[in-house]
Amino acid sequence: MIIGFTSSFPIEVIYAAEQTPVDLNNIFINGNAKKYVEDAEFEGYPRNICSWIKGMYSVVLSSLVDAVIGVVEGDCSNTHSLMATLKDKDIEVIPFSFSYNKNRTELEREITKLEKYFKVEHSQVLEVKRRIDQIREKLVYLDKLTYKENKVTGLENHLWLVNSSDFNGNPNDFENRLDEFIIEAENREPLKFNFRLGYLGVPPIITDLYDFLLKNGANVVFNEIQRQFAMPYLEKNLTDQYLRYTYPYSVFDRLEDINEEIKKRKLDAVISYSQSFCHRQIDNMLLKKYIKIPFLAIEGDQPGELDARTQLRIESFLDMLRY
Ligand code: SF4
Repeated sequence: MIIGFTSSFPIEVIYAAEQTPVDLNNIFINGNAKKYVEDAEFEGYPRNICSWIKGMYSVVLSSLVDAVIGVVEGDCSNTHSLMATLKDKDIEVIPFSFSYNKNRTELEREITKLEKYFKVEHSQVLEVKRRIDQIREKLVYLDKLTYKENKVTGLENHLWLVNSSDFNGNPNDFENRLDEFIIEAENREPLKFNFRLGYLGVPPIITDLYDFLLKNGANVVFNEIQRQFAMPYLEKNLTDQYLRYTYPYSVFDRLEDINEEIKKRKLDAVISYSQSFCHRQIDNMLLKKYIKIPFLAIEGDQPGELDARTQLRIESFLDMLRY
């Protein structure tokens, strides 16, 4: 069975049940994203709702997904309505929650519920976790090749980390391709660029952001949320892994991680991306307040290339860093 999901959650359970987890966001952004958004609007999804939600809705209706796991707490309140509209189309929906207060017992209860639903033992899930962690270790190394050796572009780093949310439905194949990429990157000359940037926020709906930055002398050496999707802490215990994962919890959890990485990676500045109509735009108030290096907030709405206004803002920001 193909199990779609709306945001990262313990995919180890799905692999333990020998089913295929598929991150709906990845299918949306790698497919005909504009058409997915349009299709959802034709069905009646409002114009002023985030494009990712509309994209995921259309992806489910136009693909072979058998059921959808919706992260209904710790991600996006729009997911509640997304799940309702999918249920109305006879799609099986399974809720998963990260508790707001990072409660260990509640998270354990959610994981157990999922294990029961998919009829797997916790020991099987841990076995999968041990296997997947071998790949995650390699992603941690790829990240080091990015910020220590300067041998990986921000876009490459983004793509590998973001795709580790589901390992493209096939961890062995993902690992083989990753091994090949790492060998290629190790043998490269270090990239030359003027600024070391951090990218904060959900992955961009803008297709050419990283290329535009690199063309203007700035490489992203820290992809905040994408790195979180790759579960870089390699905790032994599944609950600990998903308690350290910052994305579903408060902006203060994110800030702790961000400020540590700013120092470690010697960042010159950060770009904080938000999606139009997303509640996470409010987080920028606190990110800006507690991040002590130059900070630029940008916004994306529809899938596609950078608009002229955002290009100009980024160019002016980089000019400001230069002088
Ligand atoms: S970008 Fe924001 S509004 Fe859109 S799905 Fe993600 S959390 Fe929800």
